[in-house]
Amino acid sequence: MQTIIEPFKIKSVEPIHFTTKEQRINLLKEAHFNSFLLKSDDVIIDLLTDSGTSAMSSNQWAGIMQGDESYAGSPSFFRFEVQVQKITGMPIVIPTHQGRAAEKILFSILGGKGKYFVSNTLFDTTRANIEFSGAEGVDLLCEEGKHISTPAPFKGNMDTDALRKFIIEKGAENIPLCIVTVTNNSGGGQPVSMENVREVRKICTDFGVPLFIDACRFAENCYFIKIREKGYENKSIPEIVSELFSYGDGCTMSAKKDAFANIGGFLAMHDKNLAQRCRNLLVITEGFPTYGGLAGRDLEAIAIGLEEVMDENYLHYRIRSIEYITEKLVNAGVPVMQPGGGHAVYLDAKEFLSHIPVNQYPGQALVGALYIEGGIRGVEIGSLMFGKYDDNHNLMPAPMELVRLAIPRRVYTQSHIDYVSEVIIEVYNKRKEIVGLKIVEEAPMLRHFTAKLTTF
Ligand SMILES: *Cc1c(COP(=O)(O)O)cnc(C)c1O
Repeated sequence: MQTIIEPFKIKSVEPIHFTTKEQRINLLKEAHFNSFLLKSDDVIIDLLTDSGTSAMSSNQWAGIMQGDESYAGSPSFFRFEVQVQKITGMPIVIPTHQGRAAEKILFSILGGKGKYFVSNTLFDTTRANIEFSGAEGVDLLCEEGKHISTPAPFKGNMDTDALRKFIIEKGAENIPLCIVTVTNNSGGGQPVSMENVREVRKICTDFGVPLFIDACRFAENCYFIKIREKGYENKSIPEIVSELFSYGDGCTMSAKKDAFANIGGFLAMHDKNLAQRCRNLLVITEGFPTYGGLAGRDLEAIAIGLEEVMDENYLHYRIRSIEYITEKLVNAGVPVMQPGGGHAVYLDAKEFLSHIPVNQYPGQALVGALYIEGGIRGVEIGSLMFGKYDDNHNLMPAPMELVRLAIPRRVYTQSHIDYVSEVIIEVYNKRKEIVGLKIVEEAPMLRHFTAKLTTF
């Protein structure tokens, strides 16, 4: 088989700043063992997130110059609106400055005490916005999704039996929305099958619960459907995308993911009344409905990115690049989520650092070790991100302790990825030297962004 090459040429480059291991030991201490507090100039390969870190295409940059910055009714908005309508089939499109702004608006309206939002897995900002409204977020992930190293084609699926039971138990009137996250970011970037979305749709219809799609990685998810789900192998990506969105009453989207934009997001929906209430909030938080916290040039870049991401050559390369690094790690015996997700490699830190108890944050300890060894920046998705305390201030851990290495779109080449796997394998061979961490300072919400930690 021939090598699958990057389906782009490089026109403009950014230098990487190199550091030594000795420097990084100090830099990590100065950053309180929190990768979010590192300066990006001190990072060699930045896999903190795939959000807003994509390389834009020459077409997108050209679109930036075409951006019309009129306050109201800009042609850039209409290009954006048409593109979102074309993809989602949803008539109402509300731009926001990023995904969480769309969430904040939606959950401020639909949330509140006594309400439940059910999902395959809620992303951290989604959960935080739900909880901030006083409502509760509930994850009903399928059984396969809970077994990190056991491969299955659609580990992002929702447990539909659990969904039905949950709605009956809590009452449909207390569940303003069901949310399907594609791909399942916090659940390992694992895809959701079309069959599962169809089944969720049916249950939602039976009980009168609206269904929203958290669509950040819709194209990656649809590519997985094409290659893994029976009946979709001969369908085009736009056809699969249309079917996926046809099951939703609405969607939230961060354009910083599959739209290859550096900023942006939107809400789209069918319900005119709900949209009116969303726009009422939009004008006091984001801006006028034809720009919603974005510049005209951003709307152009998003519209173009949404078209580019459905290119099958791109998606083939994208999904293969994650699979490639996953294979290398599996062959070296490194505990890693299998199969690879759509946008990231997830190391199983509980297994990787089995000598570090969960209340000493093995995921965060591993993030630190990868930084020191090779200047690689990842992020913990485990008990630092999702852990809560019981009444006696004992940690109630997250179900999994993962380290996510998110691959920015179109940014790194195969040799960068080879380097990353070499560093991970080196750290794995020295894993017994890694020690646990404790928190010395934390915020009440989304604490992983700012928490300060120290070694034992
Ligand atoms: C990134 C992300 C969000 C939030 O979007 P932002 O643009 O970062 O605010 C919501 N849901 C999922 C699944 C995401 O990956």
